[in-house]
Amino acid sequence: MATVTDPVCGMQIDSSQAAAQTVHDGKAYFFCSEECRKIFLENPEAYINQHEDLQDAPIPLP
Ligand SMILES: [Zn+2]
Repeated sequence: MATVTDPVCGMQIDSSQAAAQTVHDGKAYFFCSEECRKIFLENPEAYINQHEDLQDAPIPLP
């Protein structure tokens, strides 16, 4: 089990208990509800870019 962040509303959810999920650009995204998934699918880039910096983006070496 893993805790993931709903990219739309920012809620922390367990990936095994996510109400919805999708794969975008080869990466899985989990959502607290079908509503959040719909919102995400309307404009995925907006939500991906917003949260990637905060999660596990690799630290660029100088
Ligand atoms: Zn949500």
